Amino acid sequence: MQKENTAICPECKNQINLLRYPSIKEGMVIECNHCGITLIIKKIDAGTVYTEIVDEGK
Ligand SMILES: [Zn+2]
Repeated sequence: MQKENTAICPECKNQINLLRYPSIKEGMVIECNHCGITLIIKKIDAGTVYTEIVDEGK
C-alpha cells in the first residue's frame, strides 16, 4: 500500500494539500495552499515530499 505523501511548506510551516495534484514527482512546481508561495519538489522519500522555495524574482 502506498503511503500518503505529505509536504510541509518551508515558508509558513503548514502542511500543503497534495491531493490537489493528481500525481507528483521530482522537479514539479507546486503552490502552497496556505501562503501561496511557489515551491519545487526536490525529493520524494517514503511519503515525505521535500520542497524548495522557487525564487521567481518578481
Ligand atoms: Zn506556505
